[in-house]
Amino acid sequence: ATPVAIMVGTGKGAENGILFRSAQALEELHSIDTVVLDKTGTITEGRPCVTDVLLTGLVTEDMLVRIAASVEAYSEHPLAEAVVRYAEEKHIQPEKVVSFEPIFGRGVAATLGTHRYLAGNAALMEENGINLSDVASEVDALTRGGKTPLYFAREDGLLGVLAAMDTVKPSSAEAIRMLRGLGLEVRMLTGDNRVTATAIQHQLGIDTVEAEVLPQDKQAHIAALQSAGKKVAMVGDGVNDAPALARADVGIAIGAGTDVAIDSAGVILMRSDLRDVADAVRLSRAVLRNIK
Ligand code: ADP
Ligand code: MG
Repeated sequence: ATPVAIMVGTGKGAENGILFRSAQALEELHSIDTVVLDKTGTITEGRPCVTDVLLTGLVTEDMLVRIAASVEAYSEHPLAEAVVRYAEEKHIQPEKVVSFEPIFGRGVAATLGTHRYLAGNAALMEENGINLSDVASEVDALTRGGKTPLYFAREDGLLGVLAAMDTVKPSSAEAIRMLRGLGLEVRMLTGDNRVTATAIQHQLGIDTVEAEVLPQDKQAHIAALQSAGKKVAMVGDGVNDAPALARADVGIAIGAGTDVAIDSAGVILMRSDLRDVADAVRLSRAVLRNIK
């Protein structure tokens, strides 16, 4: 593309809240055939709320909520923030934790008083020998509805589950239709569990889902698609997404996301609206058509 075409394209993008950080990002975008979308904070609002509480009989509901909020108090994960807010709404005061340890892509471990607690997904519980069969059918029903189960355990077993629901952004369904209308394959990549991810996939008409992906494995998924001959744009908002954004042919960061994600991307969407991904692709195609 000529410098003038690039300048005009960049200007048009900026008017619509689409910031191209380089001429290369604007040019590359016209040739992509695959769009990989992060789920939490990209397709969804990224602000989950606790909707359900399941108990196993070891502690009362108020005790479970107090333990959950205490254990999650130092985690920056959006799910942890949902738990802390839920306790605040119930006027339940958290206890002081003695020690706290995040477990990347899984949850957290913490000590309260003389007990050690675990909070996180099914994989974390299974790795620590916690039996989940008492709640399996109830959890299954919640996950099929698109909710994420957070398990809480003590040395003596599972204490209960808090289910959290993150709302899909109102514009996401239309954005995915627009992307498919441009002939692009739309894929979702998430650390969340497979059943929850599949519920959202079907709700939105996404072609393919990769769930239960550890943060450090997101970029390997992009690399595998590239090895299969795909030209990939990755859209993400989180610290987790930064390596994948850098690896993709074009990295697109949600402007409301973390600084690390923004620094790793060639395109920034100021409005956090996925329809702008489709508009950015259209703009790139128009710029390259005009100068050929
Ligand atoms: P994502 O944000 O896409 O779900 P993460 O890698 O951050 O991906 O987390 C993967 C999963 O690990 C979450 O869906 C959740 O089940 C669990 N998890 C992570 N952090 C926490 C936490 N602080 N409390 C409870 N569960 C957590
Ligand atoms: Mg995210």
